[in-house]
Amino acid sequence: MDCLFCKIIKGEIPSKKVYENEFVYAFEDIAPQAPFHVLIIPKEHIASSADITADNSILVAKIFEAAAQIAKENDLKDGFRIVTNSGKVGCQTVFHMHFHMLSGRQLEGQMG
Ligand code: AMP
Ligand code: ZN
Repeated sequence: MDCLFCKIIKGEIPSKKVYENEFVYAFEDIAPQAPFHVLIIPKEHIASSADITADNSILVAKIFEAAAQIAKENDLKDGFRIVTNSGKVGCQTVFHMHFHMLSGRQLEGQMG
């Protein structure tokens, strides 16, 4: 399958790894929107959060578990924001579900 993030997981495209376990992989966003901008993705290919089902929803929990661990390891004690874009209306550009984890500056407003 021609998926950019599946290639990153396999190491076929380089990335700056921040965290990895059996279920998830996390790496620095190539175009950071904040001083800390990491993408957390399931190792299993799921196109978007619109494709979460009872069979794969455990991976969402694994992603948030990883986020809490990443926050500890990177000393994000003042907090962070997690965002996921889904589909055309959500401005999703890479169709392997990913969660943006942003921190390192005071983020604006309630959403962006
Ligand atoms: P979205 O618009 O939510 O689909 O986000 C896709 C994100 O992937 C953007 O923030 C891009 O900067 C990021 N991105 C695209 N290609 C790469 C790459 N090769 N390595 C790291 N991040 C990437
Ligand atoms: Zn994929």
